[in-house]
Amino acid sequence: MLDWEHIFATRSSRMRASEIRELLKLLEQPDIISFAGGIPDPALFPDAEFKTAYNDIFSGPQVNAALQYSVSEGFKPLRDWIVKEVAKIGIDCTADNVFITSGSQQALDYLGKLFLSPKDTALVTWPTYLGALSAFNAYEPNYDNLSVNGNRTPEAYRETAAKLGGDVKFAYLSADFSNPTGETVDKAGREKLLALADELDIAVIEDAAYQHLRYDGEAIAPILAMDIAAKGGIENTRTIYCGSFSKSLAPGLRVGFVIGAMPVIRKLVLMKQAADLHSSTINQIAIEHVASRGFDAQVAKIKKAYSERRDAMLAALEKYMPKNTSWTKPEGGMFVWVTLPEGMDGAELLAKSIATEKVAFVPGRAFYADGSNANTLRMSFSCANAEMIDEGIKRLGRLVANADAE
Ligand code: PMP
Repeated sequence: MLDWEHIFATRSSRMRASEIRELLKLLEQPDIISFAGGIPDPALFPDAEFKTAYNDIFSGPQVNAALQYSVSEGFKPLRDWIVKEVAKIGIDCTADNVFITSGSQQALDYLGKLFLSPKDTALVTWPTYLGALSAFNAYEPNYDNLSVNGNRTPEAYRETAAKLGGDVKFAYLSADFSNPTGETVDKAGREKLLALADELDIAVIEDAAYQHLRYDGEAIAPILAMDIAAKGGIENTRTIYCGSFSKSLAPGLRVGFVIGAMPVIRKLVLMKQAADLHSSTINQIAIEHVASRGFDAQVAKIKKAYSERRDAMLAALEKYMPKNTSWTKPEGGMFVWVTLPEGMDGAELLAKSIATEKVAFVPGRAFYADGSNANTLRMSFSCANAEMIDEGIKRLGRLVANADAE
């Protein structure tokens, strides 16, 4: 076999199979109780609504346009719908500020490509969304720990980046019900972050993939909305908002979007022209069809189901986990983050868990840019019913207690 490594570009050396992708295969084994995949429950998809949407498209005058190439910016009626929708949460923008991507994952890739030269520093929370690390890794950056409510000075970030041979370029975070911890950054934390970004003169990438999924507590304005209010208009902001229809409607259509100031959007459009010309025309039309006819009802439906599962998971953790473990209490999203006793390894626990208890989760280390904090786990409650959650956590609690006693 050819030795490809010396032919591949250096950037490919950091592209590795994600632990999560491998784990998703476990979902296919029927006897495993899986809290591993952070995916929406397919039973909650608005499939009848999508069927009507595609039927309407194929039986109406739109069919030729739907099957044709289209503009790189995205389907205008969908961008108009997004403008109206985000106005409700304080994001005042025009359709020109909205750019449609093939899922918000593509936005992360493009933003990595736009901002990161090799050796530049990306600030990410510790832990952060694994898919963001995978997207940025291709651009050969360094990572530094974005401590949202901490007291690291701008100079400290700058000095670390300079030592590593580049500049700080952006701070990336999911401020609402983050993947993996389920935690939310409060208003004061968001203000601090914007002040830090102003001081450092960097971009803020706000990943809003889970923003619609709030089950209780007060909604907090998106970072972009706060930036717009403080700077007097979107063109003066440094925040780039990445939205998605994957959690609210369905991920298989691959439709997401970016909202930001025009200089950023113009560059992203050029990237899209070079990469894939535009996102699927027909899927954008179908998303607009379904969203404009029943987005709120669909979101209400999934929130009800997921909030019951969140409650079941928190109750089961309380009931079964040993005293020396702790976990987050998310107000929304799909994840609870469990911290095991010091010295315990989530990956080792998973191997045991699969073999003896048939329960799957994601070891937390994968979500740390420096591979630290092995004693953590990401547990997703989105695809399990209350009964499975109770049984799965019961088994996990037993396993952790036994492992700790060893
Ligand atoms: N951001 C976060 C935080 C996610 O959890 C995900 C999906 N798991 C994405 C982005 C990507 O979502 P999509 O490309 O389907 O919009």
